[in-house]
Parts: sequence; C-alpha cells; structure tokens
Amino acid sequence: MVETDPYSREREEMVEFQVRARGVRDPRVLAAMEKIPRHFFVPKGFERSAYEDRPLPIGEGQTISQPYIVALMTEQLELAPQDRVLEIGTGSGYQAALLAELAGRVISIERLSDLADKARENLARAGVTGVTVVVGDGTQGYPPEAPYDAIIITAASPSIPQPLIDQLAEGGRLIAPVGPRDCQDLIKLVKREGRVEEIPLGGVCFVPLIGQFGWRGEGSL
Ligand code: SAM
Repeated sequence: MVETDPYSREREEMVEFQVRARGVRDPRVLAAMEKIPRHFFVPKGFERSAYEDRPLPIGEGQTISQPYIVALMTEQLELAPQDRVLEIGTGSGYQAALLAELAGRVISIERLSDLADKARENLARAGVTGVTVVVGDGTQGYPPEAPYDAIIITAASPSIPQPLIDQLAEGGRLIAPVGPRDCQDLIKLVKREGRVEEIPLGGVCFVPLIGQFGWRGEGSL
C-alpha cells in the first residue's frame, strides 16, 4: 500500500525557506530534499517537528541534524551520479537517503547497533536502496570499498581521522565538523595530486565522533 504524505507542504516550505533562501541552490540537492520524507527518519511522536529548522533527538543521546546543515554539507560534496560515498555517523539514515539520491553507492557507518538497525528500517520504509549500513568505528573508514569520491563525517572530531584522508580518491571531497566537543568549524577537504586543500565553511555544533581517531567516550569501540 502506498502511504499518503501529509507533510509534502511542510517539506516544500523547508526546502524553500530554510535551504534555498540561505543559499543552497544545487537543483539536485533541493529535489532530493523535496523527495525524501524526513518524517520517516524521526522517532514516533516527533513527526510533526520533522520539518522544523533544528536538529531533533533520535535516541541514545544522538540527533538528526538541522535540515539546512544537511543541505549545505550535501551540496559541498559535489556528488556525481556514479560516485562512491562514505558516511560516518548513520544516525537516523536521513543523510544517507539523500546521498543515495545523488550518488551511485553509499556506505554508511554507525557505531551504535540499535541506531543502525533503526536506520535500516527507516531507509526501507522510505524505499531507499543503494545504502549499506555498517556497524563499526567509522574513524577507521571502511577499507573494503575504498577509495571514495566523497566522505561525509556527521559527528565532530578534534581533527580529521587520517584513515579517512587516506581512503579519499584523487579529486575526492571530504566534509567534517572539526574542533572542540561542543561547537566546531565545518571543513571541506579536496584531494588533488595526493595533497589536501582545506576550505572552511563556517561554524556548526555536532555530537562527538567517538572512536580510535576521534574522541574517547564511554563504550568507545
Ligand atoms: N547523519 C545522521 C542522520 O542523518 O540522522 C546524523 C548523525 S548524528 C549527528 C551523529 C552520529 O554519529 C550518531 O548516530 C553517533 O552514534 C555516530 N557516531 C559517533 N561516533 C562514531 C564513529 N566513530 N563511527 C560511526 N558512527 C559514529
């Protein structure tokens, strides 16, 4: 049975007033955000807040990021339809769903297995194919499918984990929040001739990236 969509108007307004109006103009990114039902990716009871201009809790102390920040990071990845993408921090699966709309293959790593299970469920309900959710420490990357044309880290790290820079393809783009545990700078790296150019994109506040090449945390892998 096809589920009717009571939130299509809210989604259009989110794209117009939170995303396009703030300068994200890539038509493929805007179309993907108009298509993916964000309310499928928030916990039960939060559906009516899914299109608000803020992050929302998804359990385990984690969040689904603010729509504008998701849009900005996605646009800056400059994805082509055949690209292979690695996401660190699957969370709800919403960002991965957008990546799958824009690229050829998406691997998304989540350290918390309950969130990974829920994300797989959310992606299936939204009819998204082309995403493989892996449970593990994403700071180590995912060597079996490297190199990646694009890497997106959706949790904050004191520095960009070296394995991820190593697993970025020539010409590849990497986006990550980098800095202190509370708020950070959003950084874009572009790999050219084996060297990385660093482009700052502004201030953000993300939950911590916990792992071998990130922050130490309780129960860290
Ligand atoms: N991209 C997500 C979405 O669309 O809902 C939001 C991600 S949330 C802000 C950050 C996620 O990173 C959390 O789910 C957290 O468990 C995960 N995380 C933190 N450290 C990680 C690590 N080393 N490897 C994989 N995931 C990690």
